[in-house]
Amino acid sequence: MSSTKHSNYFLIDCNQFYVSCEQVFNPKLQDKPVVVLSNNDGCIVSRSKQAKALKIPMGAPFYQYAQFFKENRVFVCSSNYALYGDLSQRVMSVLSRFSPHFEEYSIDEAFLFLENENPLKIAQEIQQTVLQWTGIPVSIGIGPTKTLAKVANDIAKNTPSSQGIFAFKDKMHIDTILSTLPVQEIWGIGSRLSSMLSAAGITYAGAFKDAPDLWIKQHGSVTLLRTAWELRSIPCLTLQELPVPRLSITRSRSFGKPTSDWNDLAEALSTYAATALCDLRAEHLLPSFLTVFLMTSAFIADAYHNSITLTLTEPTSYTPTVTSLAKDGLRKIYRKGYLYKKVGIILGGLISEGNTQPDLFSSSTKDTVKQTKAMQLCDTINHRYQGKAIRFASEGISQSWQMQRGNVSPRFTTAWKELLTIRI
Ligand SMILES: [Mg+2]
Repeated sequence: MSSTKHSNYFLIDCNQFYVSCEQVFNPKLQDKPVVVLSNNDGCIVSRSKQAKALKIPMGAPFYQYAQFFKENRVFVCSSNYALYGDLSQRVMSVLSRFSPHFEEYSIDEAFLFLENENPLKIAQEIQQTVLQWTGIPVSIGIGPTKTLAKVANDIAKNTPSSQGIFAFKDKMHIDTILSTLPVQEIWGIGSRLSSMLSAAGITYAGAFKDAPDLWIKQHGSVTLLRTAWELRSIPCLTLQELPVPRLSITRSRSFGKPTSDWNDLAEALSTYAATALCDLRAEHLLPSFLTVFLMTSAFIADAYHNSITLTLTEPTSYTPTVTSLAKDGLRKIYRKGYLYKKVGIILGGLISEGNTQPDLFSSSTKDTVKQTKAMQLCDTINHRYQGKAIRFASEGISQSWQMQRGNVSPRFTTAWKELLTIRI
C-alpha cells in the first residue's frame, strides 16, 4: 500500500435522522415502517427504509394516510425536536473529534476535511464510533471537493453494497461516475439551471464539467462556474468552520387549531419572546428592536396578516421589558374576529452584551444589574430542571394554543423525568 496522504472532504449524513432518533430509544421501531410527522402532526417529514418501501411519499399530509398506516402497521411519531436537537449535538461532537476542520452543515449533516493515507478506513471508524456512541447510523461520501463529497454521499446512501461509505478513487473513477449522473442531481443545480443546461444539450454532470468556462459564466453565474470547477476536483468551496454570527432570532409556530382569542395570542407571543430571549442570553446577545407578526391562514377568503416593528429604548434581554413592548405591538395589529393561525416574534439588531450604549433617560445601572441577575437565576433554574420550571405569568398556564403532538416520544436525553427506564 502506498503511504501518500490524500486530502479529502468527507460529507457525513445521518440516515433518516428523525426516524433514527426515535429508534435509538425504542427498539420496537427497529426494522419497521416508521414515519415522523411535522409540527401539529401535519405532514410526513422522515421515513424509515421500510416506510419508503411502502411507497409513502415524503411531505404527504398525515390525514390522507392515517387509514393506510393502520392497515400496514406503520408506526407514527410526532416530531420531538428537543430529542433530535440534542442527539444532533452529540453526533456533531463525536464528528468534530476526527478533524479540527469541521463544518456543521445542517441538523444531520457535517463536512470534515482530512488528510489521511486511508480514507475508507477512517470513514469506517467514524461510522462505527458515531453508531456506538450515539446510536445514529450515518452515510459517508468522500471526495476531493465538497461538491464531489456530496455526489459520493448520494452513492453511499443508494448503494446497499457500499455499506454506507463511498470514496472516489481517482480522476478516472470520477469521470466514469459523472458521465451518467443527471445534471440536476448535482448540489446547487436547481430545476431552473438544469432546464437551462438541458436546453443547451447538457444533461449529464460529465458534459457540464467539461463545458468551457466562458460559456458557463455567460449562461449562469460565478457560482455555477465554481460548481463546474469543484466537479473538476478543484476546491472552490471552503469549510464554514465558524458559525456565522446571528443577525436576528425568530420564534413562531402554527397553532394546534386556529384561534381568535386575544389571551391565546398574547400567551403564545410571550412564550416565544421568553424562549428567544433565553437563547440570546446564552449567547450574550441583546436585541435592539423587535418585530411582531400575526397571520390567518393564507388560503381562506378572509385572510389577514400584519406585522409591526418597535425599537427598544435600549438593547436589553430582560424578558418583562421585551414582552410588554411585544404585547403593545400585538395590540396594534390585532383585529377582532379573525381566526389566527400563527403569531411570532423576531428579535433583531443583535449586539454583544459588552457593547451597549446606555440610554440617557434609562433606569439606573443598579436596576440593570438586578434585572440581569434575575434573568440569570431564571435561566439557571430552568436549565437545571430541563424546561420551564419558572415562567412568566404572561405565558399562561394551560397553553391550550400549543401545537398538537398526538404521538410524541419522551425527551429521553434532555429531561431527567423522561429518562428511559428498563425493567428487569
Ligand atoms: Mg440525512
